[in-house]
Amino acid sequence: MCGIVGYVGKKNALNVLIDGLKSLEYRGYDSSGIAYISNDEVNIIKEKGKVSELEKKINFNQDVDLGIAHTRWATHGEPSVKNAHPHTCEKITLVHNGIIENYEELKEELAKKYNFLSDTDTEVVAVLLNEIYKEKKDIVDSLIELKKKLVGSYALAILVSDEKDKIYALRKNSPLIVARSTDASFLASDVPAILKYTKKYSLLLENEIAILTKDKITFLNDEKEEITKEIITFEGEENAALKGGYDHFMLKEIYEEENIVKRLSEEYSSFEKLLHNFKDIKKYNKIDIVACGSAYHIGIIARYLIEEYADIPVNVEVASEYRYKKNFLDKNSLVIFISQSGETADTLACLRKVKELGVTTLSIVNVVGSSIARESDIVIYTKAGPEIAVATTKAFVAQLVIVILLTLYFAYQNNKMTKEEVSSVLKDLQKLNIKDVINKDYKDIAKILKDKNDIFFLGRNIDYAVALEGSLKLKEISYIHSEAYAAGELKHGTISLIENKTPVISLLTCDKIIEKTISNIKEVKARDAYTIAITTKAYDFIDKNIVIEKTNKLLMPILAVIPLQLIAYETAKLKGCDIDKPRNLAKSVTVE
Ligand code: GLU
Repeated sequence: MCGIVGYVGKKNALNVLIDGLKSLEYRGYDSSGIAYISNDEVNIIKEKGKVSELEKKINFNQDVDLGIAHTRWATHGEPSVKNAHPHTCEKITLVHNGIIENYEELKEELAKKYNFLSDTDTEVVAVLLNEIYKEKKDIVDSLIELKKKLVGSYALAILVSDEKDKIYALRKNSPLIVARSTDASFLASDVPAILKYTKKYSLLLENEIAILTKDKITFLNDEKEEITKEIITFEGEENAALKGGYDHFMLKEIYEEENIVKRLSEEYSSFEKLLHNFKDIKKYNKIDIVACGSAYHIGIIARYLIEEYADIPVNVEVASEYRYKKNFLDKNSLVIFISQSGETADTLACLRKVKELGVTTLSIVNVVGSSIARESDIVIYTKAGPEIAVATTKAFVAQLVIVILLTLYFAYQNNKMTKEEVSSVLKDLQKLNIKDVINKDYKDIAKILKDKNDIFFLGRNIDYAVALEGSLKLKEISYIHSEAYAAGELKHGTISLIENKTPVISLLTCDKIIEKTISNIKEVKARDAYTIAITTKAYDFIDKNIVIEKTNKLLMPILAVIPLQLIAYETAKLKGCDIDKPRNLAKSVTVE
C-alpha cells in the first residue's frame, strides 16, 4: 500500500512529486505529505484526505529541485495530519511503505529519550535512524545498521539534512523503482509515477541502497560496494496511466479488456505456441493455488477448470490462511500464485514458504519484475498494462485467460484433450466477442440495485466462482452489501433474508448445471426476489435477462464476468461513489 515518489533534478520538483503522487493514489489515499529542500532547509507539508487536498497547501512558485512525497494507506494510527508522512527526527526525514513489526519494542527503548509525535510505526524508523546516524556519522553505514534492526516490510525514501542534494532509498518486501531521465533521478513505488519522463527504470532489490542525485543514481550493496543495475523498459503505452477521455479508470480498463484478450489470444494463437510458451511447466500430480481477493476467485475458477478438463486435483487457498497452516506438498506438486501487483504481502510470504519446501512455484503476475515474479520458479505475465482503478477488472480478465490456457496445457499433458481440441479452444478465444458484452446497457439494472441494502449472487460450478467476483466488485465500489452463494447452498440458511424485491443476480452460463441453478432461482422467485440473470438464453420467469453469446464452455467465464463488472460500475456511478478510489481500500496490499 501507499505511494512513494522521490525526485531530484532540474524540473520543478513540487510539480513532479504531486503529479507522481496522483498517479500512485490508487495505492493509498487517506492522507499525504511532501518534504522538499528550499532555502537550504527541509520543508514539510502534510494533509488529510486525497492528494488534491495537499496540493492546495503547496506554493508551486518556488524553485525546488529535490523532494520526497507519500500518499498513505494507514496501518498504524488513524488517517490524520500528525500520522501522515513524512516523519522526521532531527537530521532524518523519511516516507515509508509497509509495516515495521517490531516497532513497539523499538519504540519502548527510544521513548526513553524521545517524545514521539505520531502513532505510526514509521516515526520509529526515523527516530531509530537518527540515533544510529548520531553514533556512526555515516549515513550508508547507518542504513546498513538500520536494516539489521527492522523486522517487517518497508520501502523508505530518506532525506538527511547534512546532505541536502541526495535522496537515499532502501526496501524490504515493499516495492521501489528508480529511474533516470536526461536531467533528473526518480524514485517511485510503481511505474505510472515516472512514465511522463522516462520508460526506463531499475528495480531496487532488498540488499541494495540507492543514492539519488540530480546527475546520477548510485547503487550499493550491503558491503558498500557499487553495483550496476539492469535497466528495464516499460513496454506498455505511455498514456497507460491516463484516463484518456473516460469518466473513470475502471471504465477505461474494462474497455481495454477486448485488446488484452486479443493480445493474449495472438500470443497463444496455436497449439505449438501454447506448448512453447509453457514448456517449463512439467507434469504435476497435485496443484495448490494461493491468492487474495479477486485473484483468489481466479483460483476457484482455475480449480473447476483444471480438475474437470485436466483431471488434476487442485486445492485453492486464501494466502493469509495458507501461510499459517499445514501444507501437503511433495516433489510432484505445483503451487500457483496469482497476484496483479506481484507484491501482495500474504501471497509473497506463501511463495517464500513453499520455496523453502523445495516445491515448484509458478506465478501469474501483471507487474513485470515484481517480487513474486522474480522469486517464482516460473512466471507467466498477464500483460494487462498498469491497472489504476483499485477494483480490478482488466487484470482479472487477463488472469482468467491465462488460467484457461494453463488448463488446456495441463489437459493435453494428461492426455485428457487432443491437439485438435486444444486448437479449437484457441481458435474460439481469438473470435471471442467481448465488444458486444461491454456495449450492452447496464444502467437499468443499476437503477434497480442502487437503493437496495442486500443483493445476492448465485451460480454453480464456474458460475459460482464468477458470482463471487461479481459480488466483491459490487461491494468494493458501490458499498452495497452483497453475498455470493453456491446456488444450492442459499436454502441452507440465507434464503431467510430474501424478501420482497431483494435482487438476486444469477449466472446461467455453465451448461452442465444450468437446470439445477434454474430451480434455485425459482425458489427465490417464489419468495418475491427480483431476479436478474446473466445467461446464454432468456427465460420468461426471470425478471431481467442479460443474454450473452454462447461460446466454448471453457471461455464462458470471460464473457460472464464483464456484465458483473459493468453492473458494479454503473451502480456505483449512480450512487455517486468514488469509483476509482473506494473508501478504505488500496490497490496492492503490501501489508499483512
Ligand atoms: N505503516 C505506515 C503507517 O501506517 C505506512 C503505511 C503505508 O504503507 O502507507 O503510516
